[in-house]
Amino acid sequence: MNDADACSLAQGLQSLGLGATNAPVEADVVILVTCVVRQSAEDQVVGRLSSLKTLKRQQPRAAILVLGCFVGDDVALRVQYPFVDAFFRPSDVTGVLSWVNEHTSPKHKETASGPAKSLVRGQARVCASVPVSYGCSHHCTYCIVRLRRGPQRSRPLAEIVADVQEQARCGAQDVTLLGQNVDAYGQDLERPAPDLADVLTAVHELPGLQRVRFLTSHPAHISGKLIATVRHLPRVCPHFELPVQSGDDDVLRRMARGYTAEEYRALVASLRQHIPHCSIATDVIVGFPGETEKQFQSTYDLLEELRLDTVHIAKYSQRPDTPAARLSDDVSPADKERRRKILDEQQARIAGEINGRFVGRRLEVLVEGRKGQRWRGRTVNNKLVFFEADENLEGQLACVEITWAGPWSLVGKLSQLPSEIRA
Ligand code: SF4
Repeated sequence: MNDADACSLAQGLQSLGLGATNAPVEADVVILVTCVVRQSAEDQVVGRLSSLKTLKRQQPRAAILVLGCFVGDDVALRVQYPFVDAFFRPSDVTGVLSWVNEHTSPKHKETASGPAKSLVRGQARVCASVPVSYGCSHHCTYCIVRLRRGPQRSRPLAEIVADVQEQARCGAQDVTLLGQNVDAYGQDLERPAPDLADVLTAVHELPGLQRVRFLTSHPAHISGKLIATVRHLPRVCPHFELPVQSGDDDVLRRMARGYTAEEYRALVASLRQHIPHCSIATDVIVGFPGETEKQFQSTYDLLEELRLDTVHIAKYSQRPDTPAARLSDDVSPADKERRRKILDEQQARIAGEINGRFVGRRLEVLVEGRKGQRWRGRTVNNKLVFFEADENLEGQLACVEITWAGPWSLVGKLSQLPSEIRA
């Protein structure tokens, strides 16, 4: 979501006459897009703000703006960070652009040495993201996102289609539809309302688009209609980002996730039954308050049984004002780290085995760009692939024969033959 915000900002600032620079010291406007999902992310924001304080001292004319989940109580923030010119709530791109338009003079925007510069890091143009909804109406007890981003607000379908169309017109070939809880899209709109399957159907035929993705799914919201839509629309990638968070029912209940381990297991079985070549990524939190060794073992056992493609593992981090912050954070840092490591090693083994079956096969790869001497791209199942080729293949679909597979990526060589499998 922050990447999508940064990208919209980059486009908006460009239309206001500002160019981008990677050097803060050159920037007329510095915008910090922030995340506080865990304490470590918040610590990074605080660290970055402290270097921006030095920058502001050296360049008092540079405007410093902060956007995102860091912005809760802006009165307190203004007192704590007086060198910041303005704070904006998450995804308030319009607010930032109006502020910049109002506070930077035309002279400031267009100087003798070219357009004024803003410090913006966007994403590669081959892949783009379009939010379908903002906020979240779930009440997971550990989560600060819903407190900072507010309840779910779905965007009108026509607006989403226009945005995807615009991204495709600008060269994006792989568009990800974003929502904190993307499957709940439309539930807050007036009835009869479109759902996520309708959005996928509406954007599927847009010219120029090769692939459509969506994230993040909530296990309690994936419908039969959505599964059927993913199965039938060839440009919709058969990849699900489906956070389980824990494999233990008591922990899931205390997290208020709204499903049991058995229901999650059944959902994975149903996805694999209807879309046999689908890939599934998940998120897990280790060390939630009160998580015992036995409960952690249930998570380990569930992951061992389900053998998912990717597991993003986070150590529980207490977030202010969340219901879980009232519980004692009683799993020691050493135990959290030990549990994280156990799952990390488990997943490296499982993912290595899953990816190993691609060695010798030809896969369709959408080339996103270069990394060093090699091209980098993804398969429909979100597998990262590196290969060498002399020609410029950025933005093209290449057929790559896999010669090596590790848990986190695949390596191959360009093939002139057609792809064998879309995986
Ligand atoms: S569904 Fe996701 S964003 Fe919403 S409250 Fe739960 S963890 Fe937070």
